[in-house]
Amino acid sequence: MHRVYLDNNATTPVLPEVFEAMRPFYLDEFGNASSIHHYGQHARAAVEKARTSVATLLNARPAEIVFTSGGTEADNLGVFGLVRAGDHVISSTIEHHAVLNSCKRLEQLGCDVTYVRVNGAGEIDPDDVRKALQPNTRLISIMMANNETGVLQPVEEIGKVAQEADVFFHTDAVQAAGKTPIDVAKIGCDALSISGHKLHAPQGTGALFLKKGTLIQPLLYGGSHERQRRAGTENLPGIVGLGKAAEIARHWLANNDSAEMTAMRDHLQETVLEAVEAAGVNGSGAPRVPNTTNLWFDFIEGEALVIALDLKGLAVSSGAACSSGAIEPSHVLLAMGLSQQRARASIRLSLGKQTTQGDVDFAVSVIPETVGRLREISPLYKKQTVG
Ligand code: PLP
Repeated sequence: MHRVYLDNNATTPVLPEVFEAMRPFYLDEFGNASSIHHYGQHARAAVEKARTSVATLLNARPAEIVFTSGGTEADNLGVFGLVRAGDHVISSTIEHHAVLNSCKRLEQLGCDVTYVRVNGAGEIDPDDVRKALQPNTRLISIMMANNETGVLQPVEEIGKVAQEADVFFHTDAVQAAGKTPIDVAKIGCDALSISGHKLHAPQGTGALFLKKGTLIQPLLYGGSHERQRRAGTENLPGIVGLGKAAEIARHWLANNDSAEMTAMRDHLQETVLEAVEAAGVNGSGAPRVPNTTNLWFDFIEGEALVIALDLKGLAVSSGAACSSGAIEPSHVLLAMGLSQQRARASIRLSLGKQTTQGDVDFAVSVIPETVGRLREISPLYKKQTVG
Protein backbone atom coordinates (compact mmCIF):
# COMPACT_ATOMS: atom_id res chain seq x y z
CA MET A 1 0.00 0.00 0.00
CA HIS A 2 1.24 3.47 -0.85
CA ARG A 3 1.72 5.34 2.43
CA VAL A 4 2.36 9.02 3.02
CA TYR A 5 3.36 10.43 6.40
CA LEU A 6 2.13 13.94 7.17
CA ASP A 7 2.42 13.82 10.96
CA ASN A 8 5.89 15.27 11.44
CA ASN A 9 4.80 17.36 14.42
CA ALA A 10 4.23 14.08 16.26
CA THR A 11 7.63 12.76 15.30
CA THR A 12 10.01 12.86 12.34
CA PRO A 13 11.96 10.00 10.79
CA VAL A 14 15.67 9.97 11.61
CA LEU A 15 17.48 11.19 8.50
CA PRO A 16 19.91 8.66 6.96
CA GLU A 17 22.86 11.06 7.51
CA VAL A 18 21.86 11.35 11.17
CA PHE A 19 21.64 7.58 11.54
CA GLU A 20 25.06 7.12 9.89
CA ALA A 21 26.59 9.71 12.23
CA MET A 22 25.19 7.79 15.23
CA ARG A 23 26.08 4.27 14.11
CA PRO A 24 29.75 4.16 15.27
CA PHE A 25 28.73 5.33 18.73
CA TYR A 26 26.66 2.19 19.28
CA LEU A 27 29.38 -0.16 18.05
CA ASP A 28 33.01 0.96 18.32
CA GLU A 29 33.03 4.36 20.00
CA PHE A 30 30.82 3.36 22.88
CA GLY A 31 32.72 5.03 25.73
CA ASN A 32 31.31 6.82 28.74
CA ALA A 33 31.97 10.52 28.20
CA SER A 34 33.08 10.79 31.85
CA SER A 35 35.85 8.14 31.52
CA ILE A 36 39.40 9.37 31.21
CA HIS A 37 40.70 6.66 28.83
CA HIS A 38 40.72 6.68 25.03
CA TYR A 39 37.09 5.55 24.75
CA GLY A 40 35.91 8.16 27.18
CA GLN A 41 37.87 10.91 25.47
CA HIS A 42 36.33 10.05 22.10
CA ALA A 43 32.87 10.05 23.60
CA ARG A 44 33.51 13.39 25.32
CA ALA A 45 34.78 14.93 22.08
CA ALA A 46 31.66 13.74 20.24
CA VAL A 47 29.32 15.12 22.92
CA GLU A 48 31.10 18.49 22.86
CA LYS A 49 31.00 18.61 19.05
CA ALA A 50 27.25 18.01 19.18
CA ARG A 51 26.89 20.66 21.90
CA THR A 52 28.61 23.20 19.64
CA SER A 53 26.33 22.24 16.74
CA VAL A 54 23.14 22.64 18.81
CA ALA A 55 24.45 25.92 20.26
CA THR A 56 25.17 27.25 16.76
CA LEU A 57 21.62 26.44 15.62
CA LEU A 58 20.30 28.60 18.49
CA ASN A 59 23.04 31.28 18.42
CA ALA A 60 24.03 30.21 21.93
CA ARG A 61 27.34 29.31 23.56
CA PRO A 62 28.12 25.57 23.85
CA ALA A 63 28.26 25.81 27.66
CA GLU A 64 24.67 27.07 27.61
CA ILE A 65 23.34 23.78 26.19
CA VAL A 66 22.10 21.09 28.61
CA PHE A 67 21.29 17.77 26.95
CA THR A 68 18.09 16.14 28.19
CA SER A 69 15.94 13.10 27.38
CA GLY A 70 13.64 15.19 25.18
CA GLY A 71 11.36 18.18 25.00
CA THR A 72 9.30 17.18 28.02
CA GLU A 73 12.33 17.01 30.29
CA ALA A 74 13.70 20.27 28.87
CA ASP A 75 10.34 21.97 29.58
CA ASN A 76 10.17 20.52 33.10
CA LEU A 77 13.72 21.67 33.81
CA GLY A 78 13.01 25.13 32.40
CA VAL A 79 9.89 25.50 34.52
CA PHE A 80 10.61 23.72 37.81
CA GLY A 81 14.29 24.65 37.74
CA LEU A 82 13.66 28.38 37.82
CA VAL A 83 10.73 28.69 40.22
CA ARG A 84 10.31 28.43 43.99
CA ALA A 85 7.21 27.95 46.15
CA GLY A 86 5.30 31.21 46.49
CA ASP A 87 6.38 32.54 43.09
CA HIS A 88 4.01 33.76 40.42
CA VAL A 89 4.36 32.31 36.92
CA ILE A 90 2.89 33.50 33.62
CA SER A 91 2.15 30.91 30.95
CA SER A 92 -0.55 30.52 28.30
CA THR A 93 -3.66 28.49 27.58
CA ILE A 94 -2.16 26.92 24.44
CA GLU A 95 1.04 25.40 25.84
CA HIS A 96 1.95 21.78 25.28
CA HIS A 97 1.07 19.59 28.26
CA ALA A 98 4.78 19.39 29.10
CA VAL A 99 4.48 23.02 30.23
CA LEU A 100 0.77 23.13 31.15
CA ASN A 101 0.94 20.16 33.49
CA SER A 102 4.21 21.43 34.98
CA CYS A 103 2.37 24.66 35.76
CA LYS A 104 -0.55 22.72 37.27
CA ARG A 105 1.95 20.94 39.53
CA LEU A 106 3.49 24.28 40.49
CA GLU A 107 0.04 25.42 41.59
CA GLN A 108 -0.21 22.35 43.82
CA LEU A 109 3.19 23.25 45.26
CA GLY A 110 2.08 26.73 46.26
CA CYS A 111 2.79 28.82 43.19
CA ASP A 112 0.30 31.05 41.49
CA VAL A 113 0.01 30.74 37.69
CA THR A 114 -1.68 33.12 35.24
CA TYR A 115 -2.58 31.56 31.88
CA VAL A 116 -2.63 34.29 29.22
CA ARG A 117 -5.30 33.79 26.56
CA VAL A 118 -4.93 33.89 22.79
CA ASN A 119 -6.92 35.59 20.05
CA GLY A 120 -8.92 33.77 17.37
CA ALA A 121 -5.79 33.16 15.31
CA GLY A 122 -4.03 31.58 18.28
CA GLU A 123 -1.70 34.49 19.02
CA ILE A 124 -0.65 35.83 22.40
CA ASP A 125 -0.59 39.60 22.86
CA PRO A 126 2.66 40.64 24.62
CA ASP A 127 0.66 43.40 26.32
CA ASP A 128 -1.46 40.75 28.02
CA VAL A 129 1.74 39.20 29.31
CA ARG A 130 2.85 42.60 30.62
CA LYS A 131 -0.54 43.12 32.30
CA ALA A 132 -0.26 39.73 34.01
CA LEU A 133 2.99 40.67 35.78
CA GLN A 134 2.89 40.73 39.58
CA PRO A 135 5.52 41.83 42.10
CA ASN A 136 6.38 38.16 42.78
CA THR A 137 6.42 37.00 39.14
CA ARG A 138 9.52 34.85 38.70
CA LEU A 139 8.98 33.19 35.32
CA ILE A 140 7.21 33.65 31.99
CA SER A 141 6.92 30.38 30.04
CA ILE A 142 5.38 30.87 26.61
CA MET A 143 5.95 28.66 23.60
CA MET A 144 7.59 29.79 20.36
CA ALA A 145 5.50 27.68 17.96
CA ASN A 146 2.31 25.80 18.71
CA ASN A 147 2.39 22.07 18.00
CA GLU A 148 -1.21 21.89 16.73
CA THR A 149 -1.54 25.02 14.60
CA GLY A 150 2.10 25.93 13.96
CA VAL A 151 1.31 29.51 15.01
CA LEU A 152 4.44 31.45 15.99
CA GLN A 153 4.24 33.62 19.09
CA PRO A 154 5.84 37.08 19.37
CA VAL A 155 8.64 35.75 21.56
CA GLU A 156 10.97 38.69 20.98
CA GLU A 157 8.37 41.13 22.34
CA ILE A 158 7.61 38.79 25.23
CA GLY A 159 11.36 38.59 25.87
CA LYS A 160 11.42 42.39 26.18
CA VAL A 161 8.54 42.29 28.67
CA ALA A 162 10.50 39.75 30.71
CA GLN A 163 13.72 41.76 30.56
CA GLU A 164 12.02 45.00 31.58
CA ALA A 165 10.38 43.26 34.52
CA ASP A 166 13.56 41.35 35.36
CA VAL A 167 11.85 37.96 35.35
CA PHE A 168 12.97 34.70 33.76
CA PHE A 169 11.67 33.84 30.31
CA HIS A 170 11.48 30.22 29.18
CA THR A 171 10.17 29.33 25.74
CA ASP A 172 9.22 25.91 24.43
CA ALA A 173 10.76 25.97 20.95
CA VAL A 174 10.22 22.24 20.32
CA GLN A 175 8.08 22.87 17.22
CA ALA A 176 10.15 25.82 16.02
CA ALA A 177 13.64 24.30 16.02
CA GLY A 178 14.80 23.37 12.56
CA LYS A 179 11.74 24.98 10.94
CA THR A 180 12.39 28.66 11.55
CA PRO A 181 15.56 30.51 12.64
CA ILE A 182 16.07 30.72 16.40
CA ASP A 183 18.34 33.31 17.97
CA VAL A 184 18.30 33.17 21.77
CA ALA A 185 20.01 36.56 21.97
CA LYS A 186 17.27 38.21 19.89
CA ILE A 187 14.53 36.43 21.81
CA GLY A 188 16.14 37.48 25.05
CA CYS A 189 15.19 34.24 26.78
CA ASP A 190 16.86 32.63 29.77
CA ALA A 191 15.82 29.11 28.81
CA LEU A 192 14.60 27.46 25.59
CA SER A 193 13.59 23.85 25.00
CA ILE A 194 14.13 21.73 21.91
CA SER A 195 13.37 18.08 21.13
CA GLY A 196 15.47 15.90 18.84
CA HIS A 197 12.68 13.83 17.33
CA LYS A 198 10.90 16.87 15.93
CA LEU A 199 13.92 17.70 13.77
CA HIS A 200 14.93 14.31 12.41
CA ALA A 201 17.09 13.21 15.34
CA PRO A 202 16.08 10.19 17.46
CA GLN A 203 13.25 10.09 19.97
CA GLY A 204 14.40 10.53 23.56
CA THR A 205 16.85 13.34 22.83
CA GLY A 206 16.56 17.04 23.51
CA ALA A 207 18.21 20.04 25.04
CA LEU A 208 17.58 23.07 27.18
CA PHE A 209 19.39 26.28 26.37
CA LEU A 210 20.18 27.91 29.70
CA LYS A 211 21.61 31.41 29.55
CA LYS A 212 25.06 31.78 31.05
CA GLY A 213 24.89 32.63 34.73
CA THR A 214 21.32 31.35 35.20
CA LEU A 215 21.15 29.27 38.35
CA ILE A 216 18.88 26.28 37.99
CA GLN A 217 17.58 23.69 40.42
CA PRO A 218 18.20 20.31 38.73
CA LEU A 219 15.43 17.75 38.34
CA LEU A 220 17.81 14.80 38.62
CA TYR A 221 20.47 14.26 41.27
CA GLY A 222 23.53 12.12 40.71
CA GLY A 223 26.90 12.80 39.14
CA SER A 224 28.09 16.20 38.01
CA HIS A 225 27.22 15.70 34.33
CA GLU A 226 26.14 18.64 32.19
CA ARG A 227 27.81 21.08 34.61
CA GLN A 228 25.64 19.84 37.45
CA ARG A 229 22.48 20.82 35.66
CA ARG A 230 21.40 17.31 34.58
CA ALA A 231 22.83 14.23 36.24
CA GLY A 232 23.14 10.93 34.36
CA THR A 233 25.45 9.38 31.79
CA GLU A 234 24.95 11.20 28.51
CA ASN A 235 22.97 9.45 25.75
CA LEU A 236 26.02 9.42 23.49
CA PRO A 237 24.54 8.15 20.19
CA GLY A 238 21.40 10.23 20.70
CA ILE A 239 23.37 13.38 21.40
CA VAL A 240 25.55 12.76 18.34
CA GLY A 241 22.34 12.36 16.30
CA LEU A 242 20.91 15.58 17.70
CA GLY A 243 24.15 17.40 16.83
CA LYS A 244 24.05 16.10 13.26
CA ALA A 245 20.36 16.97 12.88
CA ALA A 246 21.06 20.50 14.17
CA GLU A 247 23.84 20.87 11.59
CA ILE A 248 21.50 19.71 8.79
CA ALA A 249 18.74 22.03 10.02
CA ARG A 250 21.16 24.96 10.00
CA HIS A 251 22.08 24.35 6.36
CA TRP A 252 18.44 23.79 5.45
CA LEU A 253 17.46 27.15 6.95
CA ALA A 254 20.47 28.93 5.40
CA ASN A 255 19.51 27.56 1.95
CA ASN A 256 16.01 28.93 2.43
CA ASP A 257 14.57 25.46 1.86
CA SER A 258 11.82 26.49 4.24
CA ALA A 259 10.34 28.65 1.44
CA GLU A 260 9.85 25.49 -0.61
CA MET A 261 8.16 23.79 2.34
CA THR A 262 5.89 26.79 2.91
CA ALA A 263 4.88 26.66 -0.77
CA MET A 264 4.06 22.93 -0.51
CA ARG A 265 2.05 23.48 2.70
CA ASP A 266 0.16 26.41 1.18
CA HIS A 267 -0.58 24.45 -1.99
CA LEU A 268 -1.87 21.57 0.13
CA GLN A 269 -4.25 23.66 2.20
CA GLU A 270 -5.43 25.82 -0.71
CA THR A 271 -6.15 22.87 -3.00
CA VAL A 272 -8.04 21.01 -0.28
CA LEU A 273 -10.08 24.09 0.62
CA GLU A 274 -10.95 24.73 -3.02
CA ALA A 275 -12.34 21.21 -3.25
CA VAL A 276 -14.21 21.09 0.08
CA GLU A 277 -16.98 23.43 1.23
CA ALA A 278 -17.53 24.38 4.89
CA ALA A 279 -13.84 24.04 5.71
CA GLY A 280 -11.04 26.37 6.77
CA VAL A 281 -7.63 26.82 8.36
CA ASN A 282 -7.15 27.17 12.11
CA GLY A 283 -4.59 29.89 12.78
CA SER A 284 -4.73 31.39 9.31
CA GLY A 285 -3.69 35.02 9.34
CA ALA A 286 -1.07 34.41 12.02
CA PRO A 287 2.60 33.75 11.22
CA ARG A 288 3.18 29.99 11.26
CA VAL A 289 6.06 27.55 10.94
CA PRO A 290 6.33 26.36 7.32
CA ASN A 291 5.38 22.73 7.84
CA THR A 292 2.05 22.83 9.66
CA THR A 293 -1.55 23.36 8.70
CA ASN A 294 -4.57 22.66 10.86
CA LEU A 295 -7.85 22.33 8.94
CA TRP A 296 -11.49 22.15 10.06
CA PHE A 297 -14.17 20.34 8.09
CA ASP A 298 -17.63 21.00 9.52
CA PHE A 299 -20.04 18.06 9.97
CA ILE A 300 -17.38 15.41 10.50
CA GLU A 301 -15.38 14.01 13.41
CA GLY A 302 -11.63 14.64 13.11
CA GLU A 303 -10.91 11.24 14.66
CA ALA A 304 -13.07 9.50 12.06
CA LEU A 305 -11.28 11.39 9.30
CA VAL A 306 -7.86 10.43 10.69
CA ILE A 307 -8.89 6.77 10.70
CA ALA A 308 -10.46 6.92 7.23
CA LEU A 309 -7.37 8.63 5.80
CA ASP A 310 -5.12 6.09 7.46
CA LEU A 311 -7.04 3.33 5.69
CA LYS A 312 -6.17 5.09 2.43
CA GLY A 313 -2.50 5.34 3.41
CA LEU A 314 -2.33 8.94 4.65
CA ALA A 315 -1.08 9.51 8.21
CA VAL A 316 -2.26 12.76 9.81
CA SER A 317 -3.51 13.59 13.29
CA SER A 318 -6.46 15.19 15.00
CA GLY A 319 -6.06 17.74 17.72
CA ALA A 320 -8.26 15.62 19.91
CA ALA A 321 -6.67 13.85 22.83
CA CYS A 322 -7.96 10.67 24.30
CA SER A 323 -8.15 11.15 28.04
CA SER A 324 -9.78 8.56 30.28
CA GLY A 325 -11.42 6.86 27.35
CA ALA A 326 -13.27 9.95 26.11
CA ILE A 327 -12.15 11.97 23.13
CA GLU A 328 -11.57 15.52 24.27
CA PRO A 329 -11.36 18.33 21.74
CA SER A 330 -8.01 20.11 21.58
CA HIS A 331 -7.43 22.63 24.38
CA VAL A 332 -5.53 24.77 21.88
CA LEU A 333 -8.43 25.03 19.42
CA LEU A 334 -10.92 25.66 22.22
CA ALA A 335 -8.65 28.40 23.59
CA MET A 336 -8.77 30.01 20.13
CA GLY A 337 -12.55 30.22 20.49
CA LEU A 338 -13.57 27.32 18.26
CA SER A 339 -16.81 25.60 19.18
CA GLN A 340 -16.49 22.08 20.62
CA GLN A 341 -17.91 20.78 17.36
CA ARG A 342 -15.45 22.61 15.11
CA ALA A 343 -12.53 21.73 17.37
CA ARG A 344 -13.55 18.07 17.06
CA ALA A 345 -13.81 18.48 13.29
CA SER A 346 -10.17 19.54 12.88
CA ILE A 347 -7.09 17.68 11.71
CA ARG A 348 -3.41 18.59 11.61
CA LEU A 349 -1.16 17.97 8.62
CA SER A 350 2.56 18.44 9.20
CA LEU A 351 5.28 18.13 6.58
CA GLY A 352 8.88 17.03 7.12
CA LYS A 353 12.18 17.47 5.33
CA GLN A 354 11.49 14.28 3.39
CA THR A 355 7.99 15.27 2.26
CA THR A 356 7.76 15.46 -1.54
CA GLN A 357 5.37 17.22 -3.91
CA GLY A 358 4.11 13.71 -4.74
CA ASP A 359 3.17 13.23 -1.07
CA VAL A 360 1.24 16.48 -1.09
CA ASP A 361 -0.50 15.51 -4.35
CA PHE A 362 -1.53 12.23 -2.75
CA ALA A 363 -2.98 14.06 0.27
CA VAL A 364 -4.83 16.46 -2.01
CA SER A 365 -6.28 13.54 -3.93
CA VAL A 366 -7.60 11.61 -0.91
CA ILE A 367 -8.74 14.26 1.59
CA PRO A 368 -11.69 15.81 -0.34
CA GLU A 369 -13.27 12.48 -1.30
CA THR A 370 -12.82 11.10 2.21
CA VAL A 371 -14.41 14.19 3.77
CA GLY A 372 -17.24 13.88 1.23
CA ARG A 373 -17.83 10.23 2.10
CA LEU A 374 -17.89 10.93 5.85
CA ARG A 375 -20.30 13.80 5.34
CA GLU A 376 -22.66 11.54 3.39
CA ILE A 377 -23.10 9.45 6.52
CA SER A 378 -23.11 12.41 8.93
CA PRO A 379 -26.55 13.19 10.41
CA LEU A 380 -25.35 16.75 11.06
CA TYR A 381 -24.55 17.29 7.39
CA LYS A 382 -27.85 15.84 6.22
CA LYS A 383 -29.81 18.09 8.58
CA GLN A 384 -27.89 21.10 7.32
CA THR A 385 -28.35 20.32 3.61
CA VAL A 386 -32.04 19.38 3.98
CA GLY A 387 -32.90 22.26 6.32
N1 PLP B 1 6.58 20.80 23.49
C1 PLP B 1 5.95 20.78 22.31
C2 PLP B 1 5.45 22.05 21.71
C3 PLP B 1 5.75 19.56 21.65
O1 PLP B 1 5.11 19.54 20.48
C4 PLP B 1 6.23 18.37 22.27
C5 PLP B 1 5.97 17.06 21.63
O2 PLP B 1 5.01 16.89 20.91
C6 PLP B 1 6.90 18.46 23.48
C7 PLP B 1 7.05 19.69 24.06
C8 PLP B 1 7.45 17.24 24.16
O3 PLP B 1 8.61 16.81 23.52
P1 PLP B 1 9.11 15.28 23.68
O4 PLP B 1 8.20 14.46 22.86
O5 PLP B 1 10.52 15.29 23.13
O6 PLP B 1 9.09 14.97 25.12
